[in-house]
Order: sequence, then C-alpha cells, then structure tokens
Amino acid sequence: MASKYQAPRGTFDVLPDTARARARIEGAAAAIFARAGYEPISTPAFEDTELFERGVGRSTDIVRKEMFTFEDKGGRSITLRPEGTAPICRAYLEHGMHKLAQPVKLFYAGPFFRHERPQAGRYRQFHQVGLEAIGTDSPLADAEAIMLLADLLAELGVPGVELRLGSLGSLEARRAYLEELKSHLRANQGDLSKDVRERIDINPLRAFDSDDEGTQSVMASAPTIVEHLEGDDAEHFATVRGLLDAAGIAYEIDPTLVRGLDYYTRTIFSFVCEGLGAQSEVGGGGRYDGLIEQLGGPPTPAVGWAAGIERILLALGEEGEAPRRDAFLAVADETQRQRALALASELRHAGLAVEVDLAERSLKGQLKHADRIGARRVLILEADGGAQLRDMKSGEQRPVEPGRLLEEIGGARP
Ligand code: AMP
Repeated sequence: MASKYQAPRGTFDVLPDTARARARIEGAAAAIFARAGYEPISTPAFEDTELFERGVGRSTDIVRKEMFTFEDKGGRSITLRPEGTAPICRAYLEHGMHKLAQPVKLFYAGPFFRHERPQAGRYRQFHQVGLEAIGTDSPLADAEAIMLLADLLAELGVPGVELRLGSLGSLEARRAYLEELKSHLRANQGDLSKDVRERIDINPLRAFDSDDEGTQSVMASAPTIVEHLEGDDAEHFATVRGLLDAAGIAYEIDPTLVRGLDYYTRTIFSFVCEGLGAQSEVGGGGRYDGLIEQLGGPPTPAVGWAAGIERILLALGEEGEAPRRDAFLAVADETQRQRALALASELRHAGLAVEVDLAERSLKGQLKHADRIGARRVLILEADGGAQLRDMKSGEQRPVEPGRLLEEIGGARP
C-alpha cells in the first residue's frame, strides 16, 4: 500500500511505540527540571536568520552549511531553528526577563533542524530537551546544569555514559589562545586537511574535531586552552570540578573538547555513550557568557545544555512500552452498543484504560480484535443487562455483577 510520498530525507515519522518512549523521556526531564525550579518555555520553530548568524556564529558549520533558510512572502530571511539557546536568549531580552529574579531557569523540548548528512543518530529534523540558567556567572550553575543532565540520563537508564569536561576560558583568554592556535596551525599547514587549512582564520578550534590523520597528528602537539587557563578562568574551572567531585559525578578532563557553536565560554561538557558509534554524544552544552550581549542585550552570563531525544532512544535500544489496556468492552448483542460506549466513558472517568469496538464487528470478531490489540480482559455485555468477564490469556469466562465492574476491571491492571 506504499504511496509515492515518503517522509523527506533525514526525517522520520514518530510512530506510536516510539512516541510513548519519547513521552517518557520528556516526562522524566520535565519532572527533574521542575524539582530544581526550572520552568518550561517554548519558542517558535523558525526565527529571523540573523539571530542564528549572530548567535551561533557565521564561521560555524551550522550557519555555513546546515541551516534550512528561506525567504518568506514578505522577503524576510527565515531559518528553521537549528538550536535552542539563541532563541531563548532572544526571548529573554524580548520579554525583559532580566527584570525577574536571576538566574532565570528555563527548560524546553521540541524539534530542531539541520541540513546534515543523514545517518544513524543524525537527522535533519531531530528533537532536543534542554535547559538554560541565565543571569549568573557562578560555577554552581555550571555544576547544577551538569548534575541535572547526569540525573536525567541515570533516571532513564542510559547505559555506558561518560562525561567529558573542558573549559574555553573567558572571551579575552579565548581570543589570545586562538592566536596561538592559529600560529601552530599555520606552522604545520602542509599536514592539515584542505578544509581545516581553509578555515585556520575563521574557525581554528574545529581542527580538534577533524577525522583527517594529518590534521590529527598536528593537533596532538597543539596547545590546548585548558593548559592555558589563568586567574578567574582557572579558578572557575577548578570550582566546577570540585563541585562535581563533591556531588559524586565522575568526569574526564578533555583538553581537546570543542563544540560546534561559537558562543561557548569557560565550561563546556559532553555526555557520550560508547554504544552509539560515530554519533556518540547524547547531550552537551556549556557556559555562554557573551551571547546575550552579542544579541544586543546587557552583559548577562549564562549556562545550558541540550540532549538529543533520538540519541537517548538509540542508547536505550528502546522499542517503547506497550500501551496500557485494562479492558475491551465487547457486545454480545447489537442492542448493547450504546451501553458499551456509555460504560466505557464511565470507566475511563474512573481512570481505567478501556476501549470499545468501533467497527461493529460480530462477537467473534470483537474477541479476535481484542486479542490483536493486546487487551488482557474483555467485558462482554449481554442483552439481558448482564455481563461476562473473559480473561484473554486463559480463555476463562465468568459472570460479573454490574455493581462490581470497576473493581473487577481495575483489579486486572498489571
Ligand atoms: P548541539 O546543539 O550541537 O550542542 O547538540 C546537542 C545534542 O543534540 C547532541 O548531543 C545530540 O544528542 C543532538 N543532536 C545534534 N544534532 C543532531 C542531529 N542532526 N540529529 C540528531 N541529534 C542531534
């Protein structure tokens, strides 16, 4: 029955089993965040293109190659959001959230769009949950953000998770370091891949991420920013580490850690799951003390992260849970259809998961259908107002009193 229409390349339909698994992830995240005082926020799926150019950075792969950008009918350049932080900072400024008690702690979940080469764990439309704490430069906020992602992954049961931690220093320290890194790259130009060589000036940090052998050997002797941290930057990083140690969160310092967005300063982190293969990161983020100013606001330090829902699902190897079905209401006689629908509604109001036959099948057809959808019990309504309860596993069937329906069906819940 296939039609010639298919979900576009790099996108996918979320079918019911996976939709349930996703709801579990989003529900667990919302509960964990709410207990820590983070509040939900939702921003549009598209924004003015300039927000991402300024926010994410013109030199990044995301802005250079991966944005779904188009002109709207009024000639404005619009982009499907490739990430969530710049839009939330835009909303923070637009709604004067700097006047609220700081830090403003927010979380979100939703679809994001990047024109990447599709493969396992990498899609053109994907979904993230994430959080931001805006308006504090304290390392406590960095540590709390990391702890909340660790909590989420632990609660969901994601196996084999490792935390990598790094620091990019303040904007000034980073600028000085980048000059040093560029000199190292220029001195070894001949061994670099073409892509890295062409981007020495615009994005030298990405060289750490290259899978080209020559580039990797040049990077093995490259100066790292973690070794160069000084003063407040060094202290900030040491404090974050101390807080994570005190909280019992294991991590590995990764001096070569970089992220694909330009706005990060100081702490950056990445949770990887070895079982995932090439796209091994389940979630990551860091501090972005310059972003709000970059978007035209007052200097406002902040920290946040995002985790990929599809990556979490892959790591869990989850097929999704079966839906709960306490009972199926069947009718032994056509006169009972109305009663079945009214009774189903009554039982649902009492909190039970109950379905009725919506296709006017024969009793035999209804039992077959109930079996197919995995109902454990069928309540068969009879013409004389009586009812039989049938256990689908054993095939056992016995009369039940109308007054005891709720208990009988409720008691059948696994
Ligand atoms: P980023 O916004 O690049 O820092 O990515 C944060 C998280 O989003 C990653 O750790 C992944 O779990 C997820 N992610 C990023 N890009 C994709 C993609 N193209 N497909 C699926 N998940 C993605």
